[in-house]
Amino acid sequence: MSTPNFTDLRSDTVTRPTPGMLQAMQSASVGDDVFEDDPSVKLLEEKIATMFGMESALFCASGTMTNQIAIKVHTKPGDEVICDKMAHIYAFEGGGIAFNSGASVRLLDGNRGRIKAEQVLENINPDNVHYPRTRMIGIENTMNKGGGACYDFKDILSIKEVCRTHGLAYHLDGARIFNALVETKETPKDYGQAFDSISVCLSKGLGAPVGSLLLGSKDFIYQARRIRKVLGGGWRQAGYLAAAGIYALDHHIERLKEDHLKAKAIYEALKSVSYVEDCMPQETNIIIFKLNARIKVQDFLNKLETNHIKASATGINAIRFVTHLDITDQMMEHLLDVLKKI
Ligand SMILES: *Cc1c(COP(=O)(O)O)cnc(C)c1O
Repeated sequence: MSTPNFTDLRSDTVTRPTPGMLQAMQSASVGDDVFEDDPSVKLLEEKIATMFGMESALFCASGTMTNQIAIKVHTKPGDEVICDKMAHIYAFEGGGIAFNSGASVRLLDGNRGRIKAEQVLENINPDNVHYPRTRMIGIENTMNKGGGACYDFKDILSIKEVCRTHGLAYHLDGARIFNALVETKETPKDYGQAFDSISVCLSKGLGAPVGSLLLGSKDFIYQARRIRKVLGGGWRQAGYLAAAGIYALDHHIERLKEDHLKAKAIYEALKSVSYVEDCMPQETNIIIFKLNARIKVQDFLNKLETNHIKASATGINAIRFVTHLDITDQMMEHLLDVLKKI
């Protein structure tokens, strides 16, 4: 297996399968998943549904696909989706809400991407022909653009109550839900009870090469499977990928805490250097910080690159670091040293 010779902090999607994961993939039993005939895919879908206490699940190629399928099932053209202005479903899925669902979007200004029930309530349209029909609320936990911020579960339940009383669908973009779960006292089942649909990424911190899961009721997943097919997302011997997902759920959840400790060490280091203006408080595995006038973003990235470290710019003078299971202790030592010397 080739090991990367650079410290890649651009995203937690860059991980390579571990030897154990590759072994699991190689020995997977497979079939044709479009015929619903792949035992490994079925096992993965049943496993995640059981974890979250939800009826059913669907294995898809990406988190964009699971989110977009959910929105398509929950809405009709002309309906309105409410989410934060930095939400992945709105800002980073290529305009998919308009493209796939013909829905409009009402953007809220949350706290690091976390919205509140009162904000949602104020933005639900009255039942009147002039207004788009408010139909779905989407929240994200952890919040990517909010620097990996976690929701307080009470706030999640307050929004659920608003959804219940107004007959709205409630979707969770849980691309990094396990990063939140290892830091808080809630269980996957608590989340399963709160939402109508949940998207979970296997290819982020969990370290699988490909794949996301969509969770919901039997009827919801039945409809989701149709949409997945329309989007060209029906796949055949996907069991090789599902086996990686099963391995990830079995072996890579608890260890997310290690990524968080590494992120914390980076956060602490950034607080004591002269070129950082501001850093969002570290909560999980994402660190977003602003550079001050002492250094330009491109110069900072170039200096890192010279030291075999990759990171990405986010916004005009901001940088994002994401820790993950391919960041070794040795890489951390090197990184902290480089950050001090820039
Ligand atoms: C990564 C991510 C997704 C899905 O991304 P894909 O690259 O399509 O798998 C969805 N939501 C959030 C918050 C993400 O960070």
